[in-house]
Amino acid sequence: MARVLITSAIPYINGIKHLGNLVGSQLPADLFARYNRARGHEVMFICATDEHGTPAELAAAKAGKPVAEYCAEMHEVQAEIARGFRLSFDHFGRSSSQRNHKLTQAFAGRLADQGLIREVTEKMIFSVDDNRFLPDRYIEGTCPNCGFDSARGDQCDNCTKQLDPTDLINPRSTVSGSTNLELRETKHLYLMQRALKDKLEAWIDSKTDWPILTTSIAKKWLNDGDGLQDRGITRDLHWGIPVKKGDQPWPGMEGKVFYVWFDAPIEYIAGTAEWADANGLDDTAWERWWRTDKGASDVTYYQFMGKDNVPFHTLSFPATILGSGEPWKLVDYLKSFNYLNYDGGQFSTSRGRGVFMDQALSILPADYWRWWLLSHAPETSDAEFTWENFQASVNKDLADVLGNLVSRVTKFAKSKFGDDIPAGGAFGPQETALIADLGARVRDYEALMAQMEVRKAAAELRAIWVAGNEYLQSAAPWTVVKTDPERAQAMIRLSFNLIRLYAVLSAPFIPDAAQTMMTALNCDDWSWPEDMAHAMRVLPAGHGFTVPENLFRKITDEERTDWQTRFAGKRD
Ligand SMILES: [Zn+2]
Repeated sequence: MARVLITSAIPYINGIKHLGNLVGSQLPADLFARYNRARGHEVMFICATDEHGTPAELAAAKAGKPVAEYCAEMHEVQAEIARGFRLSFDHFGRSSSQRNHKLTQAFAGRLADQGLIREVTEKMIFSVDDNRFLPDRYIEGTCPNCGFDSARGDQCDNCTKQLDPTDLINPRSTVSGSTNLELRETKHLYLMQRALKDKLEAWIDSKTDWPILTTSIAKKWLNDGDGLQDRGITRDLHWGIPVKKGDQPWPGMEGKVFYVWFDAPIEYIAGTAEWADANGLDDTAWERWWRTDKGASDVTYYQFMGKDNVPFHTLSFPATILGSGEPWKLVDYLKSFNYLNYDGGQFSTSRGRGVFMDQALSILPADYWRWWLLSHAPETSDAEFTWENFQASVNKDLADVLGNLVSRVTKFAKSKFGDDIPAGGAFGPQETALIADLGARVRDYEALMAQMEVRKAAAELRAIWVAGNEYLQSAAPWTVVKTDPERAQAMIRLSFNLIRLYAVLSAPFIPDAAQTMMTALNCDDWSWPEDMAHAMRVLPAGHGFTVPENLFRKITDEERTDWQTRFAGKRD
């Protein structure tokens, strides 16, 4: 039994995420967690809401609520939607938790002890009209790297370069649009990432099995231009984790908070501590996942994220961990995703373009979305959601292939043989051939799942469904029953076991349908098909079953055009 630690990039607190966000981290992480649990591994799957920073402050102000109250409410909204999508987090934490406060302050103190923090008195942009220092992402201007005219002060969305607001050409406040900005003096803490460059580079070079998408992004930030830069880790804000050196005050830093990008990844660790707290466990329970001196040396740690988050996870967070000099677990495998586009353009939160997570669940159950999104995950390149493709995929893969097999077998068996799995006949050459084919395909499926090849794994799963359908089509028990009912009974007995096999294999992708199949089979044996000949005999003759409701319904052309119009973009 392996020990598998999985974290999904943590979604920001302000507002509901769209399907592109879902498939870029949480959903594939859930697939991987469910698969590893199904294989009997010990899994810790952590996600959280990312609650600090100015967007939360401004969203709370807009909603007329204190920011802490706003975040608590929005956390519950996001948690409810995550449950709706069956995201099987062991804990869905909050970066504003006391656990994260303490850990973030401890890391900062530790980094200072290691000589890796320097205090910098600098001039920051103060918006006179807004009467506040403007955090990086609330200043927009022209990117000095690529010339994009709406680059944010922290990062250019066009060329992904990490920026400082003072790098921008023609800066303006995005809070008010004001260009009445001035530089004012303020003091901040900087993490000396340059001093950690060699350590970081050696660590990244040791990751020979990482995808090129991941390592190339990391290497770019390590070496391009002036190379890796020291990074400000504090901000002039009220909402956030107060700057402290461990549990001690930090003279000169009163009233300031840590930068959200410093504390957010630490929440992966803090979220695991929150899990222990929520389950009445002591510190050893979470430390054995994170401290290599306290039991985590046999843990394999996987992170899931969109490509825009790669620099922070390959450089900034590892700099915190490596710089601490303490034996914290570093990521072993980092799975990053490209973007999902929406029907010929991009998803847009501000313009309400595309399907958001709450809307998706209001029109169809989670499994429909899970299947489409995972089977079209933007792995090697950006992918695109279109309603035509969604309709075709749901109707063909889920309704025609999988749903139809389940419905046909159970209805036929009930009408011909009653409420129990029939006992007649024995498996012949057709069944033996199918068992051999399925056995080989399941080994392929396992390999793809272990490698987090999400699309390919979905394609293999679909091929496994198709193999069963083809068997049924050519064996044709509904014809055979007229001349050789015993033989037809053996076919149907195998087909019931096929349904159980499909439930087990499909559960990581479509957990609700898998449960419906198992319930119809009156079965709770989720054991993995290590041996296919055995797996095809788990449900014996005489075992009772029921005919389930249709597993999947088809999407009509009328619905498709209706939804196309509805989600084209007007949401505020
Ligand atoms: Zn740029």
